[in-house]
Amino acid sequence: MENNFRIYNTLTRQVETIVPNEEGKIAMYTCGPTVYHFAHIGNLRSYIMEDVLEKSLRFVGYDVKRVMNITDVGHLSSDADTGEDKMLKGAKREHKTVMEVAQFYTDAFFRDCEKLNIKRPDVVEPATNCIDEFIHMIEVLLEKGYAYQAGGNVYFDTSKLSDYFVFSSAVEKEQMMVGVRDDVQEDANKKNKNDFVLWFTKSKFEDQALKWDSPWGVGYPGWHIECSCISMKHLGEYMDIHCGGVDNIFPHHTNEIAQSESYLGHKWCNYWFHVHHLNDKSGKMSKSKGDFLTVSLLEEKGYNPLVYRLFCLQSHYRKPLEFSYEVLDSMATVYQKLAKKIGELRDEGSVDEKGYREFRTKFEEALKSDLNTSMAITVIYDLLKADINDKTKLELIKDFDYVLSLNLLQAAEESKEAGCNVDAELEAFINEKIAERAAAKKEKDFAKADAIRAELLDRGVAIKDTREGVVWELV
Ligand code: AMP
Ligand code: ZN
Repeated sequence: MENNFRIYNTLTRQVETIVPNEEGKIAMYTCGPTVYHFAHIGNLRSYIMEDVLEKSLRFVGYDVKRVMNITDVGHLSSDADTGEDKMLKGAKREHKTVMEVAQFYTDAFFRDCEKLNIKRPDVVEPATNCIDEFIHMIEVLLEKGYAYQAGGNVYFDTSKLSDYFVFSSAVEKEQMMVGVRDDVQEDANKKNKNDFVLWFTKSKFEDQALKWDSPWGVGYPGWHIECSCISMKHLGEYMDIHCGGVDNIFPHHTNEIAQSESYLGHKWCNYWFHVHHLNDKSGKMSKSKGDFLTVSLLEEKGYNPLVYRLFCLQSHYRKPLEFSYEVLDSMATVYQKLAKKIGELRDEGSVDEKGYREFRTKFEEALKSDLNTSMAITVIYDLLKADINDKTKLELIKDFDYVLSLNLLQAAEESKEAGCNVDAELEAFINEKIAERAAAKKEKDFAKADAIRAELLDRGVAIKDTREGVVWELV
C-alpha cells in the first residue's frame, strides 16, 4: 500500500513518510488523562488532534488499532518523582476515595470527548488494571541491570544508556537536567539526577491510598511504566505512532523509551507525534493552576463544543494556540456560515465520479501533509465554489466529515430549519404590522401609518396598497 502519509516525527525532528511495521496497519498509542480533575480544553486540544490523526489514517485506508491508558495512579505533580500525588490531591479535595475520583473524572472525560466528537480509542485501560505487568517489566529491568533498589524504591538507572535524551539536541540536554530545575527537589536515593522511580515503597505519602504487594514491598508504580506496559500488552513489541502533548516529551516519553527499549532490547516506537499547547493569555493552560476552561463552561456560555473543535482544526497542531473568546466567537460565525452554505446544496442527481476523486485527493493530500487540517477545511470552501453538482459536493462533505467530525450535514439541516423559522416569524410580524397600519389609517393617524411603513422598510419589507389590498415584497 503506497500511502505517503507524512507527519513530523519528534524523534528525528523531520517530517517523514509513515512506513508501518506491518503493511496496511497502524499500531497507535495515546497517553490518556490523569483523572484527578476535569480535562481542560488544552488537554482536549491534544485529544482532538490525535483523533483527527487516527481518523485521517483510517480515511486513507489504514487499519488502525489505537490504545489509551487512564492514569489513575502514580502521577506526581512535577512529572518527575516529586511533588504531591495528583490522585490523592483530588481525593482530599473532594472527600472521596481515589477510585471514586478516578471513576468520576474518567466518565467526565469521555462525556467531553463525545461532545467534541472524539472517538473512543479501541482499547482504554486504567493503570490500576495492570499492576502485574508493571511488576514483571520492573523485574526484567532489574535482572538486566537497568534498574536498582535504593531506600526502598526501585529506580531506572539512566547512566546505563548511551543516549537517554533521545528527543533533545546537545544544548537542550544540558538544560534538561532535572536537578537544575528550581522546582525539583533532589532525591538522595538516585544515583544520577535523571534516574526515575519505577516502583515506590517509600515515599512521603504515608497515607497513600492505593498500594499493592510486590517483590520490593508494598507500594505503587511510578507514572512512566504504565504507558510502556499498557501499550505492549495491547500492541505488542513494535509500535508505529505514539502521541501526546509536547509537555510529555520530557520526562514522560523520554522515560517510556528508556525503560521500553531496555526491556525489549530493540527499538520500540518509530514515530512520535506531539501536539503543541493551548495557552491562555497568562500562559500554558494546566489543571494544577485550578482556574481552567472546560467543555461544560463553554457550553454554559452558549458555545457549541464543535465550534471549539473547529477552532483547533483551523490551526496547525505543531503551533502553540492562544485561546480567546473573541476568536471563538468568530469561529462560531464561520461554523454558521459554513452550515448555511452547505444547507443551500440540493440533494439531487448523481455523484460525478471525476469531481469526487479530484476533491477527495485534495482533501487527502492536505491530511497527508503533516496533518494540515486548516488546508483540509479550505478544500471544503473550494469545493463549495467549484463547478460540480450539489450531489457530489454533499457526498464529499459527508465523507470529509468522517475525519473533521464537525457534524456539518446536521448543522446544515439545522441551519435550513432555522432559516424557515425566521421566515415564518417575519411573515407573522409583517401581517401584524399591516393590520396595525390599517387601523391607524382608519383612525386617520397617517403619521403612524407612515411610521409603520418605514419600520417595515427597515426590516427589508416594502408594502404597496392595491385594489386587492396591501401586498408586500422583500427588498
Ligand atoms: P494529563 O491529564 O495532565 O496527563 O494530560 C493529558 C494530555 O493533555 C497529555 O497528552 C498532555 O500532554 C496534554 N496537555 C496538557 N496540557 C495541555 C495544553 N495546555 N495544551 C494541549 N495539550 C495539553
Ligand atoms: Zn504516557
